[in-house]
Amino acid sequence: MAKIIDGKAISANVKAQVKEEADKLKAQGISIGLAVVIVGNNPASRVYVNNKKKACAEVGFESFEYALPEETTQDELLALVEKLNGDDKVNGILVQLPLPKHIDENAVINAIRPDKDVDAFHPANVGHIMIGDFSFLPCTPAGVMEMLAQTGIETDGKNCVVIGRSNIVGKPMAMLLLHKNATVTICHSHTKNLKEICSKADILVAAVGKAKFVTPDMVKEGAAVIDVGMNRLENGKLCGDVDYDACFEKAGYITPVPGGVGPMTIAMLMKNTLTSAKIKNNIK
Ligand code: NAP
Repeated sequence: MAKIIDGKAISANVKAQVKEEADKLKAQGISIGLAVVIVGNNPASRVYVNNKKKACAEVGFESFEYALPEETTQDELLALVEKLNGDDKVNGILVQLPLPKHIDENAVINAIRPDKDVDAFHPANVGHIMIGDFSFLPCTPAGVMEMLAQTGIETDGKNCVVIGRSNIVGKPMAMLLLHKNATVTICHSHTKNLKEICSKADILVAAVGKAKFVTPDMVKEGAAVIDVGMNRLENGKLCGDVDYDACFEKAGYITPVPGGVGPMTIAMLMKNTLTSAKIKNNIK
């Protein structure tokens, strides 16, 4: 029977540490600010933005919300990013994805100053991650690594399988596991023998975007099963990429959805924003 990895509890630890450090900076007259930009009316994005603002309040950061209409042009959005790049009160800039189709997401990501890129999506930060010399890590994979570390799950020499190769989850996830000396296999929609590959994993990370995709025959007895997926079912409920109930007996560790990786992502965003403020103020 699996031990549940409680993302709410672990994220609360991370946020408590961030708050402690933020309070110390405040005592030195340094305040920390996160700008959150949302374009359009995507209801899921609205929920994420609200959660991010709530987390800022919890850790004592200022949050600046820019809610722009759907018809905002790319040039208008780029002008806002440029303004935030130069705003001293803003340590981190987060542009909530996805953006409306008429806006080129890469152009916007590339416009964010790398030292304020708290999502770590800018090519400069991606390159730093690749060579293992980084200030910021992308929040979701960093959250997974934090969960593994705080749960005492060893990665060194372990066989890890990541299902999904997106730039924001799958690829950086694989890279972070590699940096921690895991042997990593990345699977995607063209992978042959997916079930067989997954069933050999000591740590299986699912970032597919398909509800209940991971079934017990894909899980090694005692494996740590990390569910990044956030899928909205027809009944409105949130569901992960892992068939949680079916895999529970076989897994050694498992993350629930909700209450698993999701809260970790936000906690790591707070940590990245703190890091940005520390870099700006030359604080180690
Ligand atoms: P994405 O960009 O759509 O990538 C999905 C990946 O899954 C792709 O690499 C795709 O392969 C692969 N895939 C799809 N069908 C497959 C199949 N049948 N077999 C093997 N691989 C398959 O999604 P994403 O942005 O990485 O997000 C993945 C999930 O995580 C989503 O549910 C998303 O909502 C969730 N998410 C959660 C958080 C959080 O904070 N918890 C953060 C970000 C994302 P190809 O590359 O070959 O198409």
